[in-house]
Amino acid sequence: MARRTLVTLPVHSDGSTCGHEVNSRGKPKDETSGCTGRTGYKATCSCGWSSSIQYLRLLADEDRAEHARTHTTVPAAVQTG
Ligand SMILES: [Zn+2]
Ligand SMILES: [Zn+2]
Repeated sequence: MARRTLVTLPVHSDGSTCGHEVNSRGKPKDETSGCTGRTGYKATCSCGWSSSIQYLRLLADEDRAEHARTHTTVPAAVQTG
């Protein structure tokens, strides 16, 4: 059975991945890093699905969990993490 890979990534306002160090408000810690500020999160799946969320990682994780259920082929299976 193929295992889907679902990940949640922090992103900038233009949708590019933010791998920078940021403070709790999403502002770059290092202004010379080229970071434009973290404005949201993007949940992606190896099947090609993706969902963009503003500000709250919690919402992206919920979206991700909802999508994960669409891949459940065995009703009794419970997947965590
Ligand atoms: Zn960044
Ligand atoms: Zn998927």
